[in-house]
Amino acid sequence: GGILPSSGLTSLLSPSASRAFSSQAPIRATLFPGDGIGPEIADSVKQVFKAADVPIEWEEHFVGDEIDPRTQSFLTWESLESVRRNGVGLKGPMATPIGKGHRSLNLTLRKELNLYANVRPCHSLPGYKTRYDDVNLITIRENTEGEYSGLEHQVVRGVVESLKIITRQASLRVAEYAFHYAKTHGRKRVSAIHKANIMQKTDGLFLKCCREVAEKYPEIKYEEVVIDNCCMMLVKNPSLFDVLVMPNLYGDIISDLCAGLIGGLGLTPSCNIGEGGIALAEAVHGSAPDIAGKNLANPTALLLSAVSMLRHLELHNKAGQIQDAIVSTISEGKCRTADLGGKSKTTEFTRAIIDHL
Ligand code: NAD
Repeated sequence: GGILPSSGLTSLLSPSASRAFSSQAPIRATLFPGDGIGPEIADSVKQVFKAADVPIEWEEHFVGDEIDPRTQSFLTWESLESVRRNGVGLKGPMATPIGKGHRSLNLTLRKELNLYANVRPCHSLPGYKTRYDDVNLITIRENTEGEYSGLEHQVVRGVVESLKIITRQASLRVAEYAFHYAKTHGRKRVSAIHKANIMQKTDGLFLKCCREVAEKYPEIKYEEVVIDNCCMMLVKNPSLFDVLVMPNLYGDIISDLCAGLIGGLGLTPSCNIGEGGIALAEAVHGSAPDIAGKNLANPTALLLSAVSMLRHLELHNKAGQIQDAIVSTISEGKCRTADLGGKSKTTEFTRAIIDHL
């Protein structure tokens, strides 16, 4: 079985989002190599795609040197237009300075492209042993609001305030997405993760919306789990969960926890889903400044994100071929990057995947 089955992360898109594909014409997709290890792992994707003869033509866009007034960030307007036009893309990690500086590039992308759901599948990788053999979870993270609204200010000296925004519209939209995903992917249960005992208004509204949507899907079991308890249960026995849906910050944290269950951030893909069917795939991890430029990064997470992009484009053969090559390379155990306990460089690992195609 693949870690990213063909029923994996992006085939959940509404049918209208799947584009007709002609085997002759290459499909244009936007590529943001991103910061830190981004260019190294994006290179790996480009090489593997080339070797597998994938009919994708990349439109590469880099983060600009100065703020583009139209996006209020270092992301150029042209790069956003490219994603809108292509409807599909792959992004490397983008660094955000802590506590100061410009508007986060990731937030700009999510807001400008209305990327409302972030789907993070987490499957045990065959042949790579961790404490758990059977992890098979899908985290669906609300991607546009919550604590990520960027509304922070100083009230008086020594007191700051940060606003958490939860809206009915965004909560219904992500809940609908989660239940639709469960239904179309043979999943049995959706768990809404919250802290509504403390955040009564915000998480309370989120839960209310999830309950409303749950009523439309009687075939899917629905439950509500408090986030702290959810963390304990996940670590104790991940198979207690199936599809998890939650507000933004919780999704950020829980999906890293899930990554830890299967071997770390080097392995976990994701896809951002936008209104109008945009799919922008990316790894869960960040720019890893500690290993950037050293040829040490594991490109698997970005490669699997790229595989999900291929599935979205209904290029299932190519997606399967690349996914199998990744799994065989890692299972074989001869060539692994340092995060998986190996000694191989990013480029050597990439070469091994290409040899397994
Ligand atoms: P990180 O995910 O970059 O790194 C955490 C740890 O995991 C590091 O030790 C790193 O070396 C390791 N790691 C991550 N990806 C790896 C890979 N592919 N192969 C091997 N090891 C890997 O998290 P961080 O250090 O908290 O964040 C660094 C920067 O990335 C920050 O500026 C943050 O804002 C940004 N970030 C961006 C995104 C995104 O673009 N979606 C996501 C998370 C963090």
